[in-house]
Amino acid sequence: MTTATLRDRSVLITGGAGFIGSHLAEALVDENDVLVFDDFSSGAPSNVPAGADLVEGDVRDRDALASAMDGVDVVFHLAAEASVSASVEDPARCHAVNETGTVNVLEAAREADARVVLASSAAIYGHPDSVPIPEDAPTDPSSPYGIGKLSGDHYVRTYNDLYDLPTVALRFFNVYGPGQSGEYAGVITAFVEQARDGGPLTVHGDGEQTRDFVHVSDVVQALELAATTDAVGEAFNVATGSSVTIRELAETIRDIADDDVAITHTDGRDGDIQRSLADVSKARDRLGFEPTVQLEDGLTSLWNDWA
Ligand code: NAD
Repeated sequence: MTTATLRDRSVLITGGAGFIGSHLAEALVDENDVLVFDDFSSGAPSNVPAGADLVEGDVRDRDALASAMDGVDVVFHLAAEASVSASVEDPARCHAVNETGTVNVLEAAREADARVVLASSAAIYGHPDSVPIPEDAPTDPSSPYGIGKLSGDHYVRTYNDLYDLPTVALRFFNVYGPGQSGEYAGVITAFVEQARDGGPLTVHGDGEQTRDFVHVSDVVQALELAATTDAVGEAFNVATGSSVTIRELAETIRDIADDDVAITHTDGRDGDIQRSLADVSKARDRLGFEPTVQLEDGLTSLWNDWA
């Protein structure tokens, strides 16, 4: 776990009982007052580290947010319907949680004069024309989830322009690491679980799709940098600037498992993004962000520490 660079702050983490939020809470809790605000729809109280305070609440509830925000310096807004397929199933719910919920967080933060750091997403770019993708690439989200993230990304920057509220949007690419679980946890967790069960690893389509996987500890690093940067009103890609194909990923996990696990291919998924790779030079130059975990090292420790 990273050592906290943020100190002596009163911090609110919406979605702090989830995968990324609980890692952030863990990194910050010794040096800061940490309050987690979560409705436990996908996260769990047991993910929240000892020493952090916990409020059960929904970002659709403005009053609950207003009281949680009292005396807060920095809000990390991570609570979201984080599943693309759930957003396709129920766009209205996704809209209420991810878009209205973000406006609710911003309004409460405006009242409390708190900085807001938003978990935005590479999903806002949709199918990119070319890679690597810089922050000023065209945005063309292909799901209600991506639309909601793009809306939130615009909102946080516009609140900086209109109300002088310090805000930063971080566009996470594919995040992985310990503690990612559930039906929509992502391909790395799925492959590790399949390898643990003796295989096969199931690749959708030909496996030539590329992704930029970033370890959760590097995402925590970016979140902390965003909490203090002068570069407010800005959006930053958070990734590594390197990509692998899903086939290569499967082979790497098979090799780490040191097993005769088979790799099979199933039908491709409708709408799957073919190429994803971030240009992270803006985060490097303006935030001082430096990804530290090589994919193979991150996968090896995930494999070795698997609970
Ligand atoms: P997660 O599902 O583990 O965490 C989301 C948390 O938000 C959960 O604890 C959930 O209970 C909580 N939550 C959901 N709806 C809520 C509501 N209405 N009110 C209060 N809390 C609510 O997901 P994660 O992977 O940790 O993602 C965190 C953030 O990062 C999300 O905003 C997600 O969209 C974004 N993001 C994640 C990735 C990734 O690869 N994991 C990539 C891009 C962006």
